[in-house]
Amino acid sequence: MGPSALSSTLLGMSKAKVLIVGGGVGALEAALALHDLAGDRAGVEICAGRGDFVYRPFAVGEPYGASRVLRYSLERIADLCDAEFQLENVASVDPALRLATSHDGDEIPYDYLVVAPGARLLWSVPGATTFWGVPDEGEMRDVVSRLREGRLRRLVFTMPGGHGWALPAYELALLAATELERSGLTGTQLTIVTPEEGPLQIFGRRASEQVAELLAEHGIEVITGTHPVAYENGALAVVPGEEIEADAVVSLPRLEGRHIDGLPYDGRGFVPVDDHARVPDLPGVFAVGDVTSFPVKQGGIATQQADVAAEAIALDLGCEVESNPLDPVLRGILWTGSKPRYLFGWLGGGHGETSVASERPPWPIDNPSKLIGRYLTPFLSELEAANRAPSSAAG
Ligand SMILES: Cc1cc2nc3c(=O)[nH]c(=O)nc-3n(C[C@H](O)[C@H](O)[C@H](O)COP(=O)(O)OP(=O)(O)OC[C@H]3O[C@@H](n4cnc5c(N)ncnc54)[C@H](O)[C@@H]3O)c2cc1C
Repeated sequence: MGPSALSSTLLGMSKAKVLIVGGGVGALEAALALHDLAGDRAGVEICAGRGDFVYRPFAVGEPYGASRVLRYSLERIADLCDAEFQLENVASVDPALRLATSHDGDEIPYDYLVVAPGARLLWSVPGATTFWGVPDEGEMRDVVSRLREGRLRRLVFTMPGGHGWALPAYELALLAATELERSGLTGTQLTIVTPEEGPLQIFGRRASEQVAELLAEHGIEVITGTHPVAYENGALAVVPGEEIEADAVVSLPRLEGRHIDGLPYDGRGFVPVDDHARVPDLPGVFAVGDVTSFPVKQGGIATQQADVAAEAIALDLGCEVESNPLDPVLRGILWTGSKPRYLFGWLGGGHGETSVASERPPWPIDNPSKLIGRYLTPFLSELEAANRAPSSAAG
């Protein structure tokens, strides 16, 4: 919104309408940050294609029976942060008219738009089992059953190159190793095939070396610099190199930004953003999370983008806030089946050597959340506490 439109909105005592498209990590962090930073000056509407917020980081434990994917009602969350909630899929936006249109043809005007519809998950390795990170993954459970019955001589975990989030593949492999160690089965080789040059290299050199040591301790073989192509007749074709024999291959999906007509997309299907999460040349339009061209698709990054977008909007609305550019930091918790490892690394320069993988979190922590956002983490932990309260009181 330009200054004149802004002042007329404020003089008329009406709120600026901020439309948030999506009901995931980036969307909720943006709603919570706006509630805190812009207060009454922003009227927030969350528009999402499903009615619940799906908390995916626990998905890796589900096929092993160690955890489950959590879900929270978006209507309830919106209520708690004084926002409106609409169950609508947004199909297109007209940035010149500041108007979004839903799949059902409903028109939704806005002053500011925060686009956070996430990424589409696509098959990446034909013939392999894809780990989608959703509940009831029959195929994945079948792989775990065969592992438990000692029917796999070699199980490969892999991931496509390009934009994504590799950590779940390492967790799946470590959880499989723990299963084998606990059951005393010795005939299975676990292998990770990765396009990365070192395991979880995105966290930096030191963390990657420490993860490599951890994998070696569990007997997990790592083949780096290698792209999976297809799994057929008991062999994984890779580039470069010879095919790798395997009784089962589990791959992470390939990601592509979810498309909304009227927005710009790069060649990989992601929305370009600057370091304030603004979509270039579209005043009032921000994008955050997996839909953006930022190469790392992680919830923590989505929340940091959402925070800088909320700061920029709040500043525009005349609130006393600082609007800082994104200085992305990666914090990750790697499940191992026993003691988790806390991974830390700054993605931008200028912070010296920060890369580490340790048994204790190198950042202040109130609860061991796998999804780290300034507003979302404490909010979800309060929500969990409130959800538990009635049953503990009862019994
Ligand atoms: C198995 C797995 C484990 C992971 N573990 C971690 C972890 O430990 N820590 C971490 O930080 N990250 C983790 N991630 C990554 C993290 O889940 C994503 O980076 C994060 O969810 C991205 O947030 P987002 O808001 O961009 O998209 P999402 O969280 O995917 O949310 C997208 C939302 O938009 C809605 N939507 C889609 N299209 C439309 C539309 N047209 N109109 C309206 N609404 C729409 C969807 O219904 C959904 O509510 C993991 C991912 C996976 C798959």
